[in-house]
Amino acid sequence: MECDVVVLGGGPGGYPAAIRAAQLGARVILVERDRIGGTCITVGCIPTKTWVQTAHGLKDARHSFAQLGIQVGEVALDFAQTQRNKDGIVGGLVNGITGVVRANGITVVQGAGRFTGPNTLEVEGGEPIEFRSAIVATGSHPLRPPVDGIDDPGCVDSTGLLEVDTVPARVTILGGGVIGVEFASILRHFGSEVTIVEMLDRLIPMEDADASRELERSFKKRGIGLQLGARATAIEHGDGVATLTYQDSAGAAGSVEADVVLVATGRGPNVEGVGLEQAGVAFDPRAGIAVDDRLRTNVPHIYAVGDVAGRWQLAHTAFREGEVAAENALGHDGPVDESAVPRCVYTDPEVAAVGLTEEQARALHGDNVVVGRFPFAASARAQMYAERTGWAKTIHESRYGELLGLVIVGPQATELVNAGVVGISAEVTIETLADSIAAHPTLAEAVKEAALVALGRQIHLPPARPRATVAAR
Ligand code: FAD
Repeated sequence: MECDVVVLGGGPGGYPAAIRAAQLGARVILVERDRIGGTCITVGCIPTKTWVQTAHGLKDARHSFAQLGIQVGEVALDFAQTQRNKDGIVGGLVNGITGVVRANGITVVQGAGRFTGPNTLEVEGGEPIEFRSAIVATGSHPLRPPVDGIDDPGCVDSTGLLEVDTVPARVTILGGGVIGVEFASILRHFGSEVTIVEMLDRLIPMEDADASRELERSFKKRGIGLQLGARATAIEHGDGVATLTYQDSAGAAGSVEADVVLVATGRGPNVEGVGLEQAGVAFDPRAGIAVDDRLRTNVPHIYAVGDVAGRWQLAHTAFREGEVAAENALGHDGPVDESAVPRCVYTDPEVAAVGLTEEQARALHGDNVVVGRFPFAASARAQMYAERTGWAKTIHESRYGELLGLVIVGPQATELVNAGVVGISAEVTIETLADSIAAHPTLAEAVKEAALVALGRQIHLPPARPRATVAAR
């Protein structure tokens, strides 16, 4: 078989690459060993956010409905239906995207592929493929740290946890990054006793420190146990109980018991067994395939996108990288712009950010950084949602007023952050944000109000310092 572009892997990096290449008139072969949709649709974004929606529903039924004057009687989780709903949505999306791929005239080859040379690839049980350009989009796999007992069946990764038949009564989550905190939040609403053990001293350590603190406060209120600055030393299994022992930052030992341990300590690139050596593509087993801003590897006609390229581990960056790589493989020469990537954490409360964190902004711009923060407790619409937790925070530099970052913790944060994506992409100033007219009453007003606070012009909050009363004449 011959083609212009072969795409290895049909996840959020691969299928957009294949579709874009087909749109540009190329003969395209997409090689996928499992289901089109990749980690994101089958075991990542989609099934987890389907569970998140069930968790939100439970919270509404248990807490918010009463405030709104709705009585629903005793609320119970029908977990079998939760799983059917998840599997139905996943199956529907896999079928949908497979249909879109085929409708674009792309040849789909089912099976594990590996390069046999710089212009050839073989698929197990299939005929060899000759290509002009290739796009590697093989994704990533869960990593397990070297802790005694971590390979026991009592320790599962996110894929394993999504397949359980019943909600575990007690769960220890090893890792307080995005995947760990999302499962902690969901499982707590599902009724599990949850403890997070995280080696660093805060949850979601890559995010804005204020956001980490707010999430930690909320989790503690919700009864989620937090062991921060704690390094797991061993996991012992017996009588259906997994006992995880750890050492805290002061050197003291502690332990936590659970029915299951979720290992959520990060993911590594799928670079082994794909014949990158035969194709001459340089890679690092931990960091993945090195690419330039055109997504080109060291072999100029071979590109890499998504998790395997090690830039981000997000579906939406993989989507865009796939499109850009396909265009460049077919004669364009454009960089991928990842200066305004939204980073969303689907916890309760949600956390979402784009651009720089406050710490990053201060490291770059020193004292010229100004932040404005508006609490959802002062938002009329948030009160209607029965939500008072969290805030929106703008971060800008004071010389030109350019918006550098937006951080939101609270209801619908993952939707609201898109205002910051557009704003930072367009290099807007804080005045543009403050002077824009936000629909009222909406949660989105919190972003505008935060910009007003940053300029000392708040309307729906008292001034930072009370103003003296001017006597009327
Ligand atoms: P993948 O989606 O992993 O796809 C790679 C594909 O390549 C797979 O289908 C695999 O079968 C195939 N493949 C690999 N090797 C071969 C081979 N040799 N031959 C043929 N096929 C091969 N991101 C978000 O943006 N939002 C979220 O809410 C979110 N939630 C997540 C929740 C969880 C639990 C997890 C694990 C991840 C989540 N992610 C989320 C991350 C997101 O899923 C990934 O960043 C995204 O799927 C990466 O896309 P990709 O195409 O690079 O890789």
